[in-house]
Amino acid sequence: MSQGLFDPQGHLTPAGLAALAGAPVGKTPADLAAHVAACPRCQDLMLAGTVGGAPVRRERREPPPAGRIWFVIGAALLLLLFMLITLQRLAGG
Ligand SMILES: [Zn+2]
Repeated sequence: MSQGLFDPQGHLTPAGLAALAGAPVGKTPADLAAHVAACPRCQDLMLAGTVGGAPVRRERREPPPAGRIWFVIGAALLLLLFMLITLQRLAGG
């Protein structure tokens, strides 16, 4: 029934994880679901490897666009300037 879905150690193979991730809600293979429910290792594999059926690569995290960085820095400086002006007015009377 589920040949090729478990490896020799009893954990899910990539095919097993894919079968579980791709199964429609309510129709997940019971033996696969039961193993993942009891096995942290396979839970990690499933969360790391398949989200919505597509592989997720953690290494490829792209930096935000430079324009947004400068916008945030500019806004912060502007806020600081307003604070200094306000403080000066309060202190100077
Ligand atoms: Zn396992």
